[in-house]
Amino acid sequence: MSQTLEDLRAQLSRINHEILRLLNERAEVSCAIGEIKEKQGVPKFDPVREKDMLDELTRLNPGPFRDAEIKHIFKEIFKASLHLQEEEHQRQLLVSRKKQPENTVIAVNGTRIGGETQVMIAGPCSVESYEQLQTVASALRKAGIKVMRGGAFKPRTSPYDFQGLGIEGLKMLKEVADEFGLSTISEIVHPAHIELAEQYIDIIQIGARNMQNFELLKEAGKARIPVLLKRGLAATLEEFVHAAEYIAVSGNSRVMLIERGIRTYEKWTRNTLDISAVPLLKQETHLPVLVDVTHSTGRKDILLPCAKAALAAGADGIMVEVHPDRQTALSDAAQQLDIPQFAELWEGITSSGLFKEQASAEA
Ligand code: PEP
Ligand code: MN
Repeated sequence: MSQTLEDLRAQLSRINHEILRLLNERAEVSCAIGEIKEKQGVPKFDPVREKDMLDELTRLNPGPFRDAEIKHIFKEIFKASLHLQEEEHQRQLLVSRKKQPENTVIAVNGTRIGGETQVMIAGPCSVESYEQLQTVASALRKAGIKVMRGGAFKPRTSPYDFQGLGIEGLKMLKEVADEFGLSTISEIVHPAHIELAEQYIDIIQIGARNMQNFELLKEAGKARIPVLLKRGLAATLEEFVHAAEYIAVSGNSRVMLIERGIRTYEKWTRNTLDISAVPLLKQETHLPVLVDVTHSTGRKDILLPCAKAALAAGADGIMVEVHPDRQTALSDAAQQLDIPQFAELWEGITSSGLFKEQASAEA
């Protein structure tokens, strides 16, 4: 008696269910293999093993599917399994949004970064003198800004350029910050200086040129103060997130990310501001994400639209360089705003409705 269409359909459904069950069983085994490979530090994709499996399957293929079709189907299964292994790995990263769905909010002397409000970090490229810092600090305080930047260790492209005042610069930052009631952030370039930084500053900056200085990242992971990690000059977001993971896995979960532009063929800006990095990093990690509009553009005339774009894309804060007398600045003279220019930018940002200021009572 010939089978009815209904019988055949029911049979097909049963087979589908069985294939579905087997595919998922296979995926679990494949993820277990991925975990072992992760621990051994070997690549997940093994082209030799994949070829051996395909050869074996085509040798055993009874038909009616042709070998080429079998190969195609199984290659897709292998690809999906690899994808799943990678997703599982991302899920395991400490900085990943999948690991911690809620935002990490970092409090620095009462200033909350990564929550409902945004932060402005401003100050000179380099710390040069007490007078310079005091003039900037006074202007920032008047504007209600709580965090001042200033580089004491400057990783310069040329060894003949100003290298920063070093530890003296950190001490100046502390003195002036205490005088004006500000928090400070400064770049540290050597692992041996991380512990020292805790005495003088409130946030350690790891610069673009050191984003993959793994010994520095590991040491920053032992620090008791937060770390602001800058995206490398040509770093992918994957590399950026993994650099942050180095700090987190070494014990410091108070990490903030900052997009500062990447190197492209474009010459009209110093770097290319990658706005897409903001929503992507917010989506993939639970860390605060900031944008340095100064280094990403290297020019002063487009800072306001770039800052607005960053905030509209979900940035938790903006960083900008400000110098009281930028003509005499010892580094990055062309891109630093003077105090009236900064006041104008700040007015533009606060009146845009995109920047939610933390109420001072909360600070
Ligand atoms: C800086 O912030 O002064 C600096 C050197 O930035 P970057 O590391 O992004 O070049
Ligand atoms: Mn600079």
